[in-house]
Amino acid sequence: MPTTQTLAANKYPVTVIIGLEVHVQLKTQTKLFCGCTTQFGMPANSQVCPVCLGMPGALPVMNREAIKLSVRTGLALNCDIPPLTKWDRKQYFYPDLPKGYQISQFDLPICADGFVEITDPANPDAIRRIGIIRAHLEEDAGKSMHDESSGVSDSKIDLNRCGTPLLEIVSQPDLRSADEAKAYLSELKLLLTHLGVSDCEMQQGSLRVDANVNLHIDVDGKKVATPIVEVKNLNSFRNVGRALDYEVERQLIAWEDTGETIDDAPKRTFGWDDVNERTFAQREKEESADYRYFPDPDLLPVRLPREWVEELGQTLGELPAATRTRLQDQFGLKTYDSDVIVNQGPAVIEYFETAATRSGDARKTSSWMLQDVMRTMKERDLNAKSFPIPAERLGDLVHQIVDGKLDNARARDVFEYLLEHDDSVDAALAALGIESVNEDDIVDLCRELLAENPQVIADVQAGKQQAVGALIGKARGKNPNANPKVVRQTLLDLIAQS
Ligand SMILES: [Zn+2]
Repeated sequence: MPTTQTLAANKYPVTVIIGLEVHVQLKTQTKLFCGCTTQFGMPANSQVCPVCLGMPGALPVMNREAIKLSVRTGLALNCDIPPLTKWDRKQYFYPDLPKGYQISQFDLPICADGFVEITDPANPDAIRRIGIIRAHLEEDAGKSMHDESSGVSDSKIDLNRCGTPLLEIVSQPDLRSADEAKAYLSELKLLLTHLGVSDCEMQQGSLRVDANVNLHIDVDGKKVATPIVEVKNLNSFRNVGRALDYEVERQLIAWEDTGETIDDAPKRTFGWDDVNERTFAQREKEESADYRYFPDPDLLPVRLPREWVEELGQTLGELPAATRTRLQDQFGLKTYDSDVIVNQGPAVIEYFETAATRSGDARKTSSWMLQDVMRTMKERDLNAKSFPIPAERLGDLVHQIVDGKLDNARARDVFEYLLEHDDSVDAALAALGIESVNEDDIVDLCRELLAENPQVIADVQAGKQQAVGALIGKARGKNPNANPKVVRQTLLDLIAQS
């Protein structure tokens, strides 16, 4: 948010209208219409051929895998998959587009009319359904690099990305806040990585976002809309959030200043300045008529047989939304816990399921997962596969707590030990000298403590139950294996009997 401006002056109700266009690089070995590799980080212009360079007479050949990945995505996004799809040329001139046109899909996209469900960031128990207008396949352009370090402006072109398959997923303008936009992107990313469609590495440009945003302002019962701004090429979820927050405030102030509405200027194209944390105007956006779309004469339309699409549908596996519901129904997890676990991906889900089944207490297991396990993973840059404590062993540890053999503090000691030693929980208990203390010993210990601290008896009898708290630490000092909960209850029982 810009710090010098506030929303305070506004007296009209404002509805924020956001739609996102997400460009996802598909995880194919080769480009969309030629055999060049799509590997990231190779020397500039080393992954090119006459087809992706746009040499006259070179003919494109469609990549089947890209079609398959797109259909899988469309099915997971609840889209209709049409029986026929086709390729169109989108004409524009830019130095990083040597062909002078981009092969894309205009009026017959490969996926249409779907939706994604997200957890409402303002209410974790509510689900918001975000419509998907379409998803179409297209090829990426190259990359221009402007180097001004030598003092002389120097531009270079790297065409390695030219022809890389992108799926552009266009949402309905159903998002109502920057937080919702981020929740939608997280869910989309989760779905795409789950399907193995894309690795969604934003730093490598394999997921890029254009955000369309404007405001509907209710002026005494009459709806006024501000011009739509498309903020291009946002390369992190954080920047999507910041750009949207900034635009909401900027548009409101601009409207208050100038009264300009969507009728005066339908749409503008902006960029995001990460350093100064503001959006800025770019070239005016072309209308689709300016691109002179026409069917690509070098490529046949693509038939998508019903049976083939249905077969693909059966290979999707359990999608993240279904896993969340299952963790809630089968394991009794709360919405928040199931969200966190599912959002970590398949390996963490599997780890949790194994540990929870072993421990016999899914909620307690999930609380250990969300706190100790994930914190350690983050601190040590580990994942569920490289984590030193196997899922079964964590299950055994939690089981000891559930059984009352270990309190949380002692369990944490065992956890720390297991992080460093490839031992069973029993071996860890032995190594740490932890043994369960029998009831008689606890009673003796508590009697001793009460004899030494008669004031506590008087306080508890006067109604101050919390006074026993002072003795629990002392019990630990006498016997580190004494379970604080059991000590507390024993003390209260003895005082009641005295
Ligand atoms: Zn090529």
